[in-house]
Amino acid sequence: MRRGMLIGGVETADGDFAEIVDPSTGLIVAEVVQATVGDVNRAVETAHAAFAQGTWRNTPAPERGRVLGRVAGLIAERRDELALLESRQAGKPISAARGEIGAVARTFEYYAGAVDKFGGQTIPGGADGTLLTFREPLGVCGIITPWNFPMVILGWKVAPALAMGNSVVIKPASATPLTALALAEICAEAGIPDGVVNVVPGQGSVAGNALVAHPLVRKISFTGSSEVGANVTRMAAPGIKRVSLELGGKSANVVFADADLDSCIESSVFGAYDNTGQDCCSRARILVERPVFKEFVDRFVARAGQLAVGATDDEATELGPLISAGHRESVEAYVRIGKDEGATLLSGAERPEGPLGVGSYLTPAVFVDVRPEMRIMQEEIFGPVVAIAAFDGEDEAISLANDSIYGLSGSLWTRDVGRALRVARGIETGMISVNSSSSVHIEAPFGGMKRSGIGREQGMVALEHYSDLKSVFIANN
Ligand code: NAD
Repeated sequence: MRRGMLIGGVETADGDFAEIVDPSTGLIVAEVVQATVGDVNRAVETAHAAFAQGTWRNTPAPERGRVLGRVAGLIAERRDELALLESRQAGKPISAARGEIGAVARTFEYYAGAVDKFGGQTIPGGADGTLLTFREPLGVCGIITPWNFPMVILGWKVAPALAMGNSVVIKPASATPLTALALAEICAEAGIPDGVVNVVPGQGSVAGNALVAHPLVRKISFTGSSEVGANVTRMAAPGIKRVSLELGGKSANVVFADADLDSCIESSVFGAYDNTGQDCCSRARILVERPVFKEFVDRFVARAGQLAVGATDDEATELGPLISAGHRESVEAYVRIGKDEGATLLSGAERPEGPLGVGSYLTPAVFVDVRPEMRIMQEEIFGPVVAIAAFDGEDEAISLANDSIYGLSGSLWTRDVGRALRVARGIETGMISVNSSSSVHIEAPFGGMKRSGIGREQGMVALEHYSDLKSVFIANN
């Protein structure tokens, strides 16, 4: 498969190509053109012209909703084909990929219904006139996404941006551009005018930079690492661009002694290792109250060892490979760092042999004897590596959970409702689940505190981030 960039509804494939490699097999699945600075400039100008021309933003809200509903329907219809693309480019188990594509359809369905329920206000003012506010679209939104949940994260940005009448230029992660191109085609098929959705695959340092720097881009919505996020913020500053950032995490999973350990352990294993730990919300620091520490560790290690690491086209596979051989090396480097720091590796961190040997697989790893200041407790590893520490009482649990530069997600497990609320309020994090490992609910705000980001995605609040407020005063005379 050879794919170009999509600008103004036209696919062009002039320039250098990069290979897209299936990390489970090492085989090349596609070649995709790499957008240059000139290509990105053309995409932004096209998006801006479509916005200025106004067909999409002036489409009445209920009709925009119907079009987004058609996008949702087309994604659902093509779920198997899109899941296969996602599985191949990102190394995802096919069953997980199918679930993700279903979630993308649900995201578009949610914003299809939200469009005509979000607007301005009339404000009580003086007797001399009437005050109103309007929610205006921003213009061209630059959308930059990572490789770990390529289409899911794209949906969180594109659906509310389109709902508010904006145009978008998408720069997908260089490893995973294929589902972004497919989404743009689906948007066109659903009736979104040409030029409103554009895709420029390529390198972050070239295409990403050019998108952030372009003067006609009004907003950058970025998901990726905290380092690149800081860079994006700096580059966006001279143009006073709106920036929303979904960045890294090192979330805590706090287990109290009164928890239902059966459901806690079953869920905590997935909360840590889902997507082979390449999940910004991964609960990679597990804090367990001392009376149940040993039992928890024994049972967690046993359950982690049962996870089905396997071929991505096998329906039974639970853990696929890491995104690349290079990323596996960086995860293995953290395993060495953990050992050097004095932590004990109880299990995992092995490269499977046999047929899986061709892919960048690594088995789920568990460290104990960890101290809060260790790098494996502080830094985002973004792989299947978990550190488990003991604590005594609520206060220590909260202080250990907060001992992080990040504040994205997390869980706590207890049967005591009062404690659940106290600890949930005490942990500095954008999202926390009680007796659950889930972070994603399209109806609720998603995003981080501290260095995990700025702004929120999902829920009605995302519509605020893709619009500006305008106040209008109408005099009585
Ligand atoms: P990354 O920061 O390397 O890349 C993210 C995107 O930014 C890619 O499209 C990349 O090409 C682009 N980019 C790189 N350099 C750029 C530059 N100079 N200018 C503009 N764009 C540039 O991140 P990644 O490795 O793709 O993803 C993993 C990271 O993403 C992890 O830190 C993870 O926690 C984070 N993440 C966060 C969330 C969240 O919602 N908070 C979700 C998923 C992933």
